[in-house]
Amino acid sequence: MRLSQMFIPTRKEDPAEAEVVSHKLLIRGAYMRMIARGIYTFMPLGWRSVRKIEEIVRQEMDRAGAQEVLMPGVQPSELWKESGRWEQYGPELLRFKDRKGSDFCLGPTHEEVITDLVRGEVTSYKQLPINLYQIQSKFRDEVRPRFGLMRGREFIMKDAYSFDLDAEGALKSYEIMFEAYHRICERLGFEFRAVEADTGNIGGSRSHEFQVLAETGEDEIVSCPSCGYTANVEKAEIRVEAGTVDYSESKELVVVQTPGQRTIEEVSKFLKKKPHQFIKTLIYSADSKLVAILVRGDHEANELKVKAFLKSKFGEISELRMAHDFEVEAATGAPVGYAGPVGLKIPVFADFALSTLKDGISGANQEDAHHLFVNVGRDYTPTEFVDLRQARGGDLCGRCGSTFDAHRGIEVGHVFYLGTKYSAAMNATVLDEEGNQRPMEMGCYGIGITRMLAAIIEQNHDDNGIIWPMAVAPYHVIVQPLQVQDEEVVKVADEIYAGLKAHGVEVLLDDRDLRPGNKFKDADLIGIPIRVTVGGRGVKEGIVEVKGRREESAQNIPIADVVAHVH
Ligand code: ATP
Ligand code: MG
Ligand code: MG
Ligand code: MG
Repeated sequence: MRLSQMFIPTRKEDPAEAEVVSHKLLIRGAYMRMIARGIYTFMPLGWRSVRKIEEIVRQEMDRAGAQEVLMPGVQPSELWKESGRWEQYGPELLRFKDRKGSDFCLGPTHEEVITDLVRGEVTSYKQLPINLYQIQSKFRDEVRPRFGLMRGREFIMKDAYSFDLDAEGALKSYEIMFEAYHRICERLGFEFRAVEADTGNIGGSRSHEFQVLAETGEDEIVSCPSCGYTANVEKAEIRVEAGTVDYSESKELVVVQTPGQRTIEEVSKFLKKKPHQFIKTLIYSADSKLVAILVRGDHEANELKVKAFLKSKFGEISELRMAHDFEVEAATGAPVGYAGPVGLKIPVFADFALSTLKDGISGANQEDAHHLFVNVGRDYTPTEFVDLRQARGGDLCGRCGSTFDAHRGIEVGHVFYLGTKYSAAMNATVLDEEGNQRPMEMGCYGIGITRMLAAIIEQNHDDNGIIWPMAVAPYHVIVQPLQVQDEEVVKVADEIYAGLKAHGVEVLLDDRDLRPGNKFKDADLIGIPIRVTVGGRGVKEGIVEVKGRREESAQNIPIADVVAHVH
């Protein structure tokens, strides 16, 4: 394409709202424009690169035996009610009514729709396994859309769903997707880690995230240099030895008292899954009921947060109060900095915690009540460690005990083994060999196509702009005639342009009447991997300059050899 005819309105200034480099460069390089918070239009360059990522993903999905479909963005509430997620999903799900008053949502993910499709058509184990995928726009009403394409509200995802007769088959499907994701990340040139992950809103038991390493990533991951165990901190197993954990920053004990056991169980279940930022450790009773929560950091600010959070989640809580650190000491029989039992499943301590809940904790009475206090090591030996705080660098690896390294990552892909969560709820069954109806075993596999575009830039840029890997560059080469009034220069540039095109190279011709400096700036900003510069003096000597985007200096190449040299 000739730049003079193209829609590439580059900008000199960073957009005010942009915090990360990919966001800045995608706007400045005329790859996209924002239309509303977290919602973007892709312009010609941006859409070419998006399609290249899609194509690589598509090739690897097809190679892995998945078949492409396209499901709708608008989904009826009935399916979500069947799975139970209409109530569970929360405000990220954008819901609306049609003119007849029926409820719909904009799909943030497609487990319900795909399960509905497959249950209607697949009735026998002989039709399995099946893996269906699509590349489609998702909508999630994110609380904090930010970082451009990294956390949008409307974004393009590749989502695949596997259906198998049994768990063994489903795990095999999972492995196949896992390997395909590896290949995709390698083809895109990512420095990445596949990490063990929490299963969050989607449900299921086995799960890995593909994390692209970048300082700007919103996720934290830890990896063990000795055994290789790598996990999202939300999930990572850490080894804790009594007395070795420094609880000194945890000054407060929050006591949650609930009227009935059911609620305690709910609180417990929820917090186990996603320990909230400000919650450090949980205290369990002998029968594994949550009785207290230790929060991190500053009392005043966190008290309000914890209260608001727990009230919003579990309205039935009858009493919620904060205790002082001397009360924690009293409760644990150890100084706060040595509050070993907290967060561990310790039967003796639980008795104390429960009785304290009844009477209310009173620091003044601790002497009288001293028979209730227990001491780690003296009164019991903890057997099971359940430290629910998130892992961080320097913690001990839960698998081998070595020290974890910490990294930040961008979650570009996520694979889940779902089991029968959706098939059982939505009655998606098949007849097995013995003639019994069985819910199908499912897996789901997502890739953030547009988040990948941003992640590539986070890992490939310099002060002047984007540095595309060849596989996703919108164009491979840019030919720059420096003097567009000079007929010889224009003729040579045109010939090189035509020659490269004839060899299947995707090439731009910067035929605009601009100063050389501006042409160089634009070429660097939009990140074209190879630049061919045609100048008056060089043409007289029979040479042009060829420079790779990452290279410091250009090479002089005889005009006659350029096409062969470049392609
Ligand atoms: P996150 O933890 O970043 O919110 P998620 O775990 O909610 O992501 P999944 O449900 O696992 O996301 O969706 C599959 C993939 O979709 C993610 O791995 C990510 O690459 C992409 N994705 C999810 N949310 C967004 C978003 N808001 N903007 C862009 N891509 C997204
Ligand atoms: Mg999310
Ligand atoms: Mg996530
Ligand atoms: Mg995820």
